[in-house]
Amino acid sequence: MAPWPFRRFRAAASVYALLVQSAAALLLIAVLRAAEPPTAAEWVRFAMLAGTAGVVVVATSVSIRLRREIRRDPWTVHIAYLVAGGLVLPVELLAVLLAGPVVHRRLEGRTAPRQWLLVTSATCLAIFAGRWVVGWQSPEWNLLRAIAAGTVLLVVRAALVAIGLRLQEPGALWADVLGESADALLGIVAVCFGGVLGVALLREPTVAPLAAPLLALLDMASQLPHWRRSAQRDGKTGLANALHWDRLAREELRRACARGQCTAVLLLDLDHFKRVNDEVGHMAGDAVLAAMALTLRGAVRKDDLVGRFGGEEFVVLLPDSCPEMAYAVADRIRLEIARMSVPTRDTLGVQRELDGLTVSAGVATTERFGYELPELLAAADAALLSAKASGRNAVTVA
Ligand code: GH3
Ligand code: MG
Ligand code: MG
Repeated sequence: MAPWPFRRFRAAASVYALLVQSAAALLLIAVLRAAEPPTAAEWVRFAMLAGTAGVVVVATSVSIRLRREIRRDPWTVHIAYLVAGGLVLPVELLAVLLAGPVVHRRLEGRTAPRQWLLVTSATCLAIFAGRWVVGWQSPEWNLLRAIAAGTVLLVVRAALVAIGLRLQEPGALWADVLGESADALLGIVAVCFGGVLGVALLREPTVAPLAAPLLALLDMASQLPHWRRSAQRDGKTGLANALHWDRLAREELRRACARGQCTAVLLLDLDHFKRVNDEVGHMAGDAVLAAMALTLRGAVRKDDLVGRFGGEEFVVLLPDSCPEMAYAVADRIRLEIARMSVPTRDTLGVQRELDGLTVSAGVATTERFGYELPELLAAADAALLSAKASGRNAVTVA
């Protein structure tokens, strides 16, 4: 299990990032060195597009600074005007347009330079890969080629970034490093909008300022997956938070009731967890919570709902489970927690392996308590209290 939350510096990830960054830098140098003077029409398109993007970048940065917000890289806005530039500008002016993400980051005062540099280099390579597909010297509008170019751009960017993240965190799931489906949709929207803007610029460059509100909206929309995640997930464990789990569980119970399926609720509480905090430190406590979440996710089926109920209490809803099965799952979790060894550091920074952790669990099933979540939770809680009273490291069925 990867040490959490202490991330190790990984050599392979650094070498990979250096390769991607060098490739992007060399490509930019080659493009700028081979530059020929752009035509007047190209300068006009560049000025309109860069001016519009610049206004959006400055305005969004000022608003972020005023609100003292910390946010993830607003990459979709950059993709949109870079795609437009890729359709209407000579490659050297397209290269100049790549200053946009750099200016944006500086104005916003965003941190995490290592990851940002990798992502921006990947964006640079992806933009030029798309340009190559659409026609390096003089791209002409052609629907199929434009779709192919947009696809290449998004796939190259996503792959380069995902490989980097995966090397940095070898334990991470590919689904997590590739981003959410909302990210993919946002990327497609940005590329399509960039394509439409490019075609409009070919016909009439002065149309560019009309794109500003849409670019600002894309800037805001790039935060959507992040906002959704923080509204639904618990930050320390990545599990559904209590409110989200509650909604999911009620929905699942309604379905189970309609089908007459037996469903179970498990309430689990780490034993003497306060001692971890008091004796090793709160960071170690957080590492135990994260490890417990991983163990829980690994111990149940894909459709079972795991959530963080409160501090060191977790809940699991097991659809289509009879009481015997629910008891068996809870007991398996109990045994797996007892086998856990959590790498962490104490308050002095000394590496420690925490083991000997135990959990108590209460189980309640719809067979006895019906399909209303509050009744099931109350019954599971009472069973949990009785497991604690019986000496802990135990499972009790209500
Ligand atoms: P018991 O076996 O009776 O459950 O004992 P316990 O020590 O686990 O229970 P108690 O309720 O006394 O303490 C729970 C502790 O969990 C207290 C609180 O500081 C800690 N806690 C709650 N949330 C977090 C968190 O997010 N991180 C850390 N590190 N500790 C947390
Ligand atoms: Mg507790
Ligand atoms: Mg406890």
